[in-house]
Amino acid sequence: MCMTGFRRDAVDLSHLFPGQPHANYLAHREGIDAAIRRVLDSGWYILGQEVTAFEREFAEFLGAAHAVGVANGTDAIELALRALGVGAGDTVLTVSHTAVATVAAIERTGAEALLVDIAPESFTLDPARLEAAIRGSVGRRLKAVVVVHLYGHPADLPAIFATAKAHGLRVIEDCAQAHGAMLDGRKAGTWGDLAAFSFYPTKNLSALGDGGAVVTSAPALAARVSELRQYGWRERYISAAPGVNSRLDELQAAILRVKLRALSTENARRRELAQLYSTGLAATPLRLPRVRDNAEHVFHQYVVRTDRRDTLLQHLQGRGIPAAIHYPQPVHLQPAYAGRTAVGAGGLVETERACREILSLPMHPQLSDEAIARVVEAILQWTQS
Ligand SMILES: *Cc1c(COP(=O)(O)O)cnc(C)c1O
Repeated sequence: MCMTGFRRDAVDLSHLFPGQPHANYLAHREGIDAAIRRVLDSGWYILGQEVTAFEREFAEFLGAAHAVGVANGTDAIELALRALGVGAGDTVLTVSHTAVATVAAIERTGAEALLVDIAPESFTLDPARLEAAIRGSVGRRLKAVVVVHLYGHPADLPAIFATAKAHGLRVIEDCAQAHGAMLDGRKAGTWGDLAAFSFYPTKNLSALGDGGAVVTSAPALAARVSELRQYGWRERYISAAPGVNSRLDELQAAILRVKLRALSTENARRRELAQLYSTGLAATPLRLPRVRDNAEHVFHQYVVRTDRRDTLLQHLQGRGIPAAIHYPQPVHLQPAYAGRTAVGAGGLVETERACREILSLPMHPQLSDEAIARVVEAILQWTQS
């Protein structure tokens, strides 16, 4: 890291903050090593028993009828949209305050993305703005809404559904940051027509490589995604529809089965760490994450807000604390999208404000209480400076 321009503090805390992918592997090493050995010895490496078993176990965990393993989370969103028949000439509504993958996946179908502002308290799609964007879109063929449960906090699903249904739109949940999150006693991923999950190594449920899943309780949609992920085959070597290659492999599925057993415990640990942050930082001027009534947050990220974000980031990084910004630029301002991406009525004021003020503090289930205490201490020092 470049330290030019400010004093290197004597204290370096980086040893307290191991990266999640390796720390999480070490936490489950025995089970993972055994699972890998089992797959290697099976002689079957693509779409076999491990994938089938993981699909069944993951669907059961969520309370959905079907999960279909695919190659990554971006593909999961694309295939979910394609299963609904979304393609060229269609428009799909989503947010700009998200991983760029959400918008990239929409465009991969041939559809256009229409970006809608967020509610500032939850960082998720604002239902009132969704309504305004739909009303302001006369002449567009609106097909679906991709709602993102950013940072592990469920979006306002009841209000979003009411609006989507009123206008005949389908709903896809982007659950890449929300494995296990709940609202009104129902898991994120069971509300929409379909849901997309990523198992990228930093996610709450993570592979040791790429992976993803599409979840749905509609058998016909599950069947369509299963075909699409493998060349559109209904029977081997015969494509019923044009498809792609987006398969989950046996090794990743076997690893995911091991980690799935620990997901609820690890999400609970994330909430415990979040509580340590929230208690320790309660008296500071930072705006802390809020949890919606009847929601269970899974704290993929613990995100605070301050209008002095950049100095806080420098202060923490100078102590070896890996704070980060998710995401520093909203999709509609990134070079690949700027000037050509449609924006909903009223613009993206809250999205742009959030990007200037957000900071993600270190968060994953293998962090110690001490690590969190040292982050809190460093922030308290900063607020007094
Ligand atoms: C990670 C992520 C994705 C994409 O997942 P990949 O597996 O990297 O393709 C999509 N949406 C959100 C919100 C994400 O965080």
